[in-house]
Amino acid sequence: MKTADIIVIGAGPAGLFTAINCKGKSVLVLEKNPSPGKKLLISGTGRCNITHDCKLSGFYEHYGENHRFLKSALHSFTNEDLIHFFNNKGLETVVDKNGKVFPASQNAKDVLKVLVDSCNQNKVEIYYNQAVISVEKTDGYFVVQTGSAKFSGKYLVISTGGMSYPSTGSTGDGYHFAKQLSHAVQPPKPSLSPVFVKDYLMASISGVSVQNKKLYLYRNDKKIAEHIGDVGFTHKGLSGPGILDFSRQILSGDVLKLNLLDKKLDDLRDEMIAASANDGKTLLQTFLKRFDLPRSLLFIVLKSISIEPDIRLAEVTKVQRNRLVSALCEFPFVIEKVGGFNMAMVTAGGIRLSEVNPKTMESRIVSGLYFSGEVVNIDGDTGGYNLQAAFSMGFLAGKSVSGAKY
Ligand SMILES: Cc1cc2nc3c(=O)[nH]c(=O)nc-3n(C[C@H](O)[C@H](O)[C@H](O)COP(=O)(O)OP(=O)(O)OC[C@H]3O[C@@H](n4cnc5c(N)ncnc54)[C@H](O)[C@@H]3O)c2cc1C
Repeated sequence: MKTADIIVIGAGPAGLFTAINCKGKSVLVLEKNPSPGKKLLISGTGRCNITHDCKLSGFYEHYGENHRFLKSALHSFTNEDLIHFFNNKGLETVVDKNGKVFPASQNAKDVLKVLVDSCNQNKVEIYYNQAVISVEKTDGYFVVQTGSAKFSGKYLVISTGGMSYPSTGSTGDGYHFAKQLSHAVQPPKPSLSPVFVKDYLMASISGVSVQNKKLYLYRNDKKIAEHIGDVGFTHKGLSGPGILDFSRQILSGDVLKLNLLDKKLDDLRDEMIAASANDGKTLLQTFLKRFDLPRSLLFIVLKSISIEPDIRLAEVTKVQRNRLVSALCEFPFVIEKVGGFNMAMVTAGGIRLSEVNPKTMESRIVSGLYFSGEVVNIDGDTGGYNLQAAFSMGFLAGKSVSGAKY
């Protein structure tokens, strides 16, 4: 049986960063894959959006209703600390126009290399192809069983990620280990996921997107939430940051209404009436050009309400005008389903937060047991918020479990 002071399960960003920050103690990391950070390598479509450039106070609104739990972790290791960490290790970073921070090389491999090199420098031992099967605590020590070996440590950190993109190794195993150690798990659910739409009309314009649009979410004919963001049309539904960030609130059967023009219904109606009175000979499509919508999208919207684009404004009947105004300001999409774990970028749900001390990341149930990363019930918006959460929790868990002074 191999022993160490601290055993970390999972060599994703949270597990690696936990291990790097365990100063003065022997640490071993167990990873089921033959290599570390499989999900990190595909993050940000391989460019790895490590964090966001906003003020720390701007972070909290990006973690839904559980954001309070993250306060200590984010304070103990901020976005600035993360950027300094990578810069000090020789990895330059850049900020895009939306405030997303990337490695200047635009290559996730470079982020992973810094993490693995830092583990090596700190004499962290990483064991690959070691899928943990079970954990137990006996006589003050954690015994961790993999398919081929047993490991024992005084402290255990579970950093196994969530359940999204299971091909990367994140298959929810940490939830089982936590349950074996008497923890409760908030049922996991896909988050940051595209949505599938019933009787979808936009398949032919897959790839087209609209920026910064208002979305309204209706359930049982009642508006329950609003959101603003970029929306992309896919073959079978909607995606893009605006949809992904909103997806944690969306359920099958909901109706998502998209305001394509950033205008109120009444204002658009008045504008059409005025334009028609001013020059009724103007073609409808000429009038609509001023709103700068992709032409292909506009034509689908018009077709969906059976209005020809080349009728003149004066020929548009009141009924047609009302239909058009409502299609442009509240185009409805009936949600067939939200994409599953195979397409969700993160997992909502996980280790119940009331059972973890947010100031240390230690279990309130089993002493010596810690958690870090997406395995806990925290999920953030797109924009670097999930990796920042993984790194901040990793830092705090590493510092706390090793008793290191920073
Ligand atoms: C396509 C995609 C793009 C993304 N892009 C971004 C982005 O640009 N910015 C951002 O902030 N976030 C992004 N995310 C989210 C981000 O990657 C995750 O939130 C982050 O990787 C979570 O880190 P983690 O270490 O907690 O978990 P993971 O990265 O999931 O790592 C967990 C590790 O534990 C290992 N493991 C699991 N079970 C066991 C076991 N039984 N035994 C041993 N090892 C085990 C896994 O193999 C894995 O290596 C993206 C996610 C996806 C899917």
